[in-house]
Amino acid sequence: MSDHPTIDHDVLVIGAGGAGLRAAIEAASHGTRVGVITKSLLGKAHTVMAEGGVAAAMGNVDDRDSWRVHFADTMRGGQYLNNWRMAELHAKEAPARVNELEKWGALFDRTKDGRILQRNFGGHRYPRLAHVGDRTGLEMIRTLQDHGIHEGLDVHMECTVVTLLHDGERIAGALAYDRERGRFKVFRAKAVVLATGGIGRAYSISSNSWEYTGDGHALAYLAGAALQDMEFVQFHPTGMIWPPSVRGILVTEGVRGEGGVLKNRDGRRFMFDNIPDNYKSQTADNEEEGWRYTQGDKDARRPPELLTRDHVARMIVREVKEGRGSPHGGVFLDIAWIKDRVPNGAEHIKKKLPSMYHQFKQLANIDITNEPMEIGPTTHYVMGGIRVDGDTQMSTVPGLFACGECAAGLHGANRLGGNSLSDLLVFGKRAGEYAAQFARTNGDVRIDEREIDDGMQYALAPFDRGASGESAYQVQDALQTTMQDLVGIVRAQHEMEQALRELDKLKQRAERVGVPGNREYNPGWHTALDLRHLLIVSEAIARSALERRESRGGHFRDDFPDKDPAFGTFNHVVRRGQDGAMALEREPIPPLPAELAAIIEEMK
Ligand SMILES: Cc1cc2nc3c(=O)[nH]c(=O)nc-3n(C[C@H](O)[C@H](O)[C@H](O)COP(=O)(O)OP(=O)(O)OC[C@H]3O[C@@H](n4cnc5c(N)ncnc54)[C@H](O)[C@@H]3O)c2cc1C
Repeated sequence: MSDHPTIDHDVLVIGAGGAGLRAAIEAASHGTRVGVITKSLLGKAHTVMAEGGVAAAMGNVDDRDSWRVHFADTMRGGQYLNNWRMAELHAKEAPARVNELEKWGALFDRTKDGRILQRNFGGHRYPRLAHVGDRTGLEMIRTLQDHGIHEGLDVHMECTVVTLLHDGERIAGALAYDRERGRFKVFRAKAVVLATGGIGRAYSISSNSWEYTGDGHALAYLAGAALQDMEFVQFHPTGMIWPPSVRGILVTEGVRGEGGVLKNRDGRRFMFDNIPDNYKSQTADNEEEGWRYTQGDKDARRPPELLTRDHVARMIVREVKEGRGSPHGGVFLDIAWIKDRVPNGAEHIKKKLPSMYHQFKQLANIDITNEPMEIGPTTHYVMGGIRVDGDTQMSTVPGLFACGECAAGLHGANRLGGNSLSDLLVFGKRAGEYAAQFARTNGDVRIDEREIDDGMQYALAPFDRGASGESAYQVQDALQTTMQDLVGIVRAQHEMEQALRELDKLKQRAERVGVPGNREYNPGWHTALDLRHLLIVSEAIARSALERRESRGGHFRDDFPDKDPAFGTFNHVVRRGQDGAMALEREPIPPLPAELAAIIEEMK
């Protein structure tokens, strides 16, 4: 069975998105031999899809901004469940990481006096998102990729990790297969960094790419690591909803940042109808003030369309439920109206939102400079993930690090837009630095051949069952429907209990999945192997959500619609128990240091 090449690295980074590449660059700069594995192509990770920008308190557009305001905004957005140390480091270090990216060749949009331009985004008090039109992720990946290649990274493309390998308690590498030929490869490494992104493919309506099957979350869990805050899934308020083939594709928050407004069927700007108390003092109470804010008036407050995503998504759901939605079950997002306010309006919209213009023109035959878009919520991001140390990004398993979307902590109960790209840069760098340090200060690893054999046997089992087994696609479809319908934007106890029962049945079906054909580029096989990961993250989400008997951030309970202060003192953590079953615990949040508590109080 165990006929395979073994490839040695000091640090193995799994994932070539923004987080993985930044980690790899950093580890290499500390003199370690670094390998990067990606299940797609270099330059094609999910990060490439990021649109609106990267949040960093540089103060280029509004000099009242500072790390302290960014920290307070991030904590308020996360409803104080954040790992405050991560929120502090993130706010302090993001500007340096963006400037560094510019030094490496990233071309951001500019202010009139030649500095990096920053735009408004939901939940950020001041214009804070450095951007390249609405194609920021592409520029970020391009820059990191170019820089990384010159650091001598060893890149393994179209290679999927199926299991992590151990040397005793410590992580020792990974078993993977190449997608082209289906051949196994063993990677031996002194430290491993997981940077595998999110879980959106556990839901049927999602803005996420095919890569988001929760692999890193599940690989870490199976390797003994803890997952944290898994109940917090972000449903972005604005995804395309029509035609059905494009349902879920993201409509960037940048549209609202540029002055786009949300209206119901009756043409009413319903977001003014319900502004949460903790945002009232920062939110415009009339349309004119909201417009002035989007145009840079420092005395104006943000329009309610730029409240946090969890709130905006729920308000849209309410309009639809109460019969004031658009024809295809969403609401309208209108940017065309700004033509009355800005010179050369249509050209202005195309320049500010080039991808949105083309996306709607080509996919929905809508000209956004003339007509409103029809939009609705879409599964977008997971705040929950691998539990890590705030400074080093090491998980609860020695030698196993995690950064980017697959790690938890920074965003608490809800992520602010733009805070992911800065998360990738800040904590990618930290993960790379500390993984390199771990590799240098801990000796060589020994790989257990039995673990490799077990991994291969598991991966090849679907071929033994062949065409007579269950279809992987049907199981995946049933899982996505279960999560969408029963553990979605609005949750209730009986639905989540039903979801857990359904997931149990799906686990059994997944064990019977069979795959016809051979190992060469066989998408049925790839889907069969994704199922284990999707099932683990779905169960973690459902179990954690069931236990959180309150509403907070991305988690909204119909049966407990209010926030309960008692639930604000701990994070939910799941681990694999001795018996193989998922066990959930409460981990108290350490008290805030006085200095940080004072900042939050001051900014309230
Ligand atoms: C449409 C869209 C727009 C967005 N816009 C913004 C924005 O403007 N600002 C912002 O801050 N955030 C934005 N986000 C969120 C942000 O893009 C993501 O959170 C972020 O890019 C995740 O980066 P990452 O490095 O963690 O993962 P990714 O970029 O997804 O990289 C994951 C990598 O892991 C690899 N991988 C996964 N599993 C395996 C496996 N088993 N074996 C090997 N490799 C594996 C993948 O191939 C990939 O290379 C947006 C998201 C979407 C969907």
